[in-house]
Amino acid sequence: MKNQLKNIYTLMGITPDVYTFGDKILTTLQDRFEAIDATAEYNQLKVLKAMQDNRVSEACLLGTTGYGYNDLGRDTLEAVYASVFHTEDALVRPQITCGTHALALALMSNLRPGDELLSPVGKPYDTLEEVIGIRPSKGSLKEYGVTYRQVDLKEDGSFNYDNIEKAINEKTRLVTIQRSKGYQTRPTLSVERIGELIAFIKMIKPDVICMVDNCYGEFVETTEPSDVGADMVVGSLIKNPGGGLAPIGGYIAGRKECVENAAYRLTSPGLGKEVGASLGVLPQFYQGLFLAPVVTASALKGAIFAANIYERLGFPVVPNAKETRHDIIQAVTLGTQEGVIAFCEGIQAAAPVDGHVKPEPWDMPGYDSKVIMAAGAFVSGSSIELSADGPIKHPYAVYFQGGLTWPHAKFGILRSLQALVDKGIVTAEQIVEIRQ
Ligand SMILES: *Cc1c(COP(=O)(O)O)cnc(C)c1O
Repeated sequence: MKNQLKNIYTLMGITPDVYTFGDKILTTLQDRFEAIDATAEYNQLKVLKAMQDNRVSEACLLGTTGYGYNDLGRDTLEAVYASVFHTEDALVRPQITCGTHALALALMSNLRPGDELLSPVGKPYDTLEEVIGIRPSKGSLKEYGVTYRQVDLKEDGSFNYDNIEKAINEKTRLVTIQRSKGYQTRPTLSVERIGELIAFIKMIKPDVICMVDNCYGEFVETTEPSDVGADMVVGSLIKNPGGGLAPIGGYIAGRKECVENAAYRLTSPGLGKEVGASLGVLPQFYQGLFLAPVVTASALKGAIFAANIYERLGFPVVPNAKETRHDIIQAVTLGTQEGVIAFCEGIQAAAPVDGHVKPEPWDMPGYDSKVIMAAGAFVSGSSIELSADGPIKHPYAVYFQGGLTWPHAKFGILRSLQALVDKGIVTAEQIVEIRQ
């Protein structure tokens, strides 16, 4: 078997040296992989229980068209999400186009003119800047008279409780907490830390709505922010909870009133959750959620494998090789343009779709430098699938995430390393030397 494996890796362009190096690294990760498998096992049963408790039946897989009145599958799926997240209600729709849309919806439906929004964890995800109006934009919260305040994390990544207390005032209506670091260097927040932050905020102002941007965090731990006091958790179905199968969609799970507000905003006052045909996507929504715990585990293993490989080769990695994980994103600082390009070319070459395509840096709207992206996904732009992107600017870091299966994530990382070796950015001597 060992030889058979080595042979097929050779056939796929991985030299025996690179393969053996990866194998050596893997032997040091057994305990961590076991812990990830245990989390996946727990979450698999949590999802299964939610499906059984809500009596998911064959009829739930059929969709509706037109207005979508009495869509059994849609309504049951929303009950399943509410059970998984232990919330009163949930809104899970293909009409929610992406994560940003889900977050904008949750914010815009629960804030009124004169209210204030607070982020106690620093700058939110890039796309939210225009939603809030930090960068001027048509239809932003700012245009509707919703003000915004932000308290940055301290230097060491801890919460600045003093300033958070000062920032909360009679106008503060909603607090937004981003779980994942996204493309920043701050640490990702554990569910436990989110719980501590929410407890502190509720102590100062009990009626404030605490919303968590849950993108990339679902099923990484056995609990979710809604288990530790969040009034709403919000995310994208083309990330973790869609399990790679959902072709579109977003979710908001939370308190009944919050979800209701979002539903009336998504469709219309008076209509709310009653309309919104599910079309043909319900089988993928259900099956994707069912697979999500194991898919998330695969992506996590890939992230940890990448951290360990690249840290051993001397590249700075965030999170580092040993840290516990609270999301599926891995940053690797390659330090040069050539390094970023080679890494992304390697990831692209590992893709099941468009694997023959060579990615190139381009001027992406909304970015202040060229960006190179590697994505050969079944669902366009899906970042639960193996993907990487890197802005072509100092410090020349790539952000790597996803992998629907662990073997594919493993291959993708070895393929990226192979690309760096082929270009002489990592020398053959480096990997052979470390191997011994
Ligand atoms: C991906 C992401 C978003 C936005 O989701 P899109 O689907 O890209 O619009 C928001 N917040 C975080 C932390 C994310 O990772």
